[in-house]
Amino acid sequence: MRGLLIGRFQPFHKGHVYVVKKVLREVDEIIIGIGSAQLSHTLENPFTAGERLMMIANSLAENGIEKNYYIIPIQDVNNNSLWVSHVRSLTPPFTKVYSGNTLVKRLFSEVGVEVKTPPMFNRRVYSGTEIRRRMLEGEPWEDLVPEAVVRVVKEVQGVERLRDLAKTDKA
Ligand code: ATP
Ligand code: MG
Repeated sequence: MRGLLIGRFQPFHKGHVYVVKKVLREVDEIIIGIGSAQLSHTLENPFTAGERLMMIANSLAENGIEKNYYIIPIQDVNNNSLWVSHVRSLTPPFTKVYSGNTLVKRLFSEVGVEVKTPPMFNRRVYSGTEIRRRMLEGEPWEDLVPEAVVRVVKEVQGVERLRDLAKTDKA
C-alpha cells in the first residue's frame, strides 16, 4: 500500500522527517510530492524543485531511509477541480493521502480518497515559515533541519539568496 505526502518543503525540516517516519509505519511506500515545483527564488519559495529533491533524498538517507519512497515534483495547475487528476497523472498509484492542508484534504476527500492528518511535531519551530524568517534575520536555523539540508542550503548559498530577494530597488 502506498501513501502520498504533499508539501512545498521550503525547506524540508525535522517536522517533515517526523511525518515521513510516521507514515512509513502505516504504508509500504511513501510518495513525497514536491508542490509548487515551478516556483523558486521568491521569499516564500526560495528553493528550486531540484534543490528540494536533494534536500529530501539526502535527509532520508541520513535517517536510514534508502528505499520505499518516491519523490515527485508537482507543478501547480491553478485549477482546483483538475488538481487531483494532475497529481495522479504524475505519481505512482496511492490509496491514502497525508496532509494537514485544508484544501488538499478537501480535494482528495471529495473524490473518495482516504485522507489522514498527521499530528504536528513542535510546530512553533519546525515550520518552513519560521526557518525562512530565521535565515533572513540571521538567527540560528540549522538545528531545525536535518544536516543534509544544511549542506544543500550552503551549497546553493540559500541564505544569501533569501537575503538578496528581500532587498528592494527603493533607496
Ligand atoms: P510553510 O510555513 O512554508 O508552509 P511548512 O512547515 O508548513 O512550511 P509544508 O511544506 O507546507 O511545510 O508542509 C507540508 C506538510 O507537512 C504540512 O501540510 C503538514 O501536514 C506537514 N508538516 C509541516 N510541519 C510539520 C511539523 N512540524 N510536524 C508535523 N507535520 C508537519
Ligand atoms: Mg505549510
